[in-house]
Amino acid sequence: MLASTSRTAMNDEGRHSVSFDVHRVREDFPILKRRIRGRPLVYLDSAASAQKPKAVLDAMQVAQETIYANVHRGVHTLSQEATDAFEAAREKLRAFINAASADEIIFVRGATEDINLVAATYGRKFLSAGDEIILSELEHHSNIVPWQLLQTEKGIVIKVAPIDDDGNFLLPAFEKLLSPRTRLVAITHVSNALGTVTPVRAIIEAAHRAGAKVLLDGCQAVPHMAVDMQALDVDFYAFSGHKMYGPTGIGVLYGKKELLATMPPYQGGGEMISTVTFAKSTFKEPPHRFEAGTPAIVEAIGLGAAADYLTALGREAVRAHEQALLAYASQRLSALPGLQIVGRAAEKAAIVSFVMEGVHAHDIGTILDRAGIAVRAGHHCAQPLMERLGLAATARASFGLYNTMEDVDALADALKIVREIFA
Ligand code: PMP
Repeated sequence: MLASTSRTAMNDEGRHSVSFDVHRVREDFPILKRRIRGRPLVYLDSAASAQKPKAVLDAMQVAQETIYANVHRGVHTLSQEATDAFEAAREKLRAFINAASADEIIFVRGATEDINLVAATYGRKFLSAGDEIILSELEHHSNIVPWQLLQTEKGIVIKVAPIDDDGNFLLPAFEKLLSPRTRLVAITHVSNALGTVTPVRAIIEAAHRAGAKVLLDGCQAVPHMAVDMQALDVDFYAFSGHKMYGPTGIGVLYGKKELLATMPPYQGGGEMISTVTFAKSTFKEPPHRFEAGTPAIVEAIGLGAAADYLTALGREAVRAHEQALLAYASQRLSALPGLQIVGRAAEKAAIVSFVMEGVHAHDIGTILDRAGIAVRAGHHCAQPLMERLGLAATARASFGLYNTMEDVDALADALKIVREIFA
């Protein structure tokens, strides 16, 4: 068994060293003290939803107990304090992804709504019959179905960039798909099913050379690595709060200011208008134009606390810790007879999908649960990817910053038992 990582790395600003002590970090997550079926919880399902540190839970609790009111429309003190906290959260998210302006941060329910918003506003306004968009074989359903809905409505053409059998994104093949009709490239930054990190800089540069805009699905990237909107020069970036140790019901759509300014509203209602008469309404500037109705106020404040939490730990330290977990898990699992890791891309985040000869992924998940180990089993909302790989389902262990080398050992040992049961 390897010792758990306690390491030193540069923090996000690269200025001074921070140490990462996973056992201390685990103390921040009350749920990790739970026992499941009499065994200590080994939580390996962070890609589906990550657990929340006390800093996030407390920020939400304190907000509700001390400053809660509706935002943006009240003259009373509580409403002003709630508005300040809500807008301060927007600024925290701006800093977290290094966007140029807080006006580029739109709060919506999560990545699914982010992508539907872009399809329904940018897509409806700027795409017409015969225009092409490029997705990839790695995509989550939430970055496929909104475009299919637009295809039905508008007659746009969807092209799909291929991967190789290891799950690597094939850049030259992608570049060949670009054409003068390509309007948008919508691709995941990190695959939720395989962990592949796609070559986003090269994708963005090639798409921009071809005159296309780029949307990145950053759901699985933001928990694992620092992302920088200005350095990437990406047009849209989508992510959910609950995958980055924040609450459900809140996510961020980043959009370049000049692009958002050209887009029509998403939903109509309160908060997003400047004036309303029965004859005509006028709309606010972004981001408020895209935030109709009462927003998820407390959840936004919780997400701001999650961003602060990750920044304070140091995202480079988190990444280094998780890369060590990934290396160890890959080594231990590939040594197990009858087990095959699915997804061996050159660059991966800490997600390990696997299949076991003669055992259905759901049976693996059920037996692991008896050992207190939470993994996901199924198609991971990526049915076209499963079809590409010739699989119905995989089991997936996805690691978070609170996982330890002992968690990997527990997984590997339990998988040996699964094998024995089905031998
Ligand atoms: N994209 C990716 C890559 C994901 O992993 C997920 C969540 N599994 C989503 C999009 C959708 O996120 P949400 O359900 O939070 O909207």
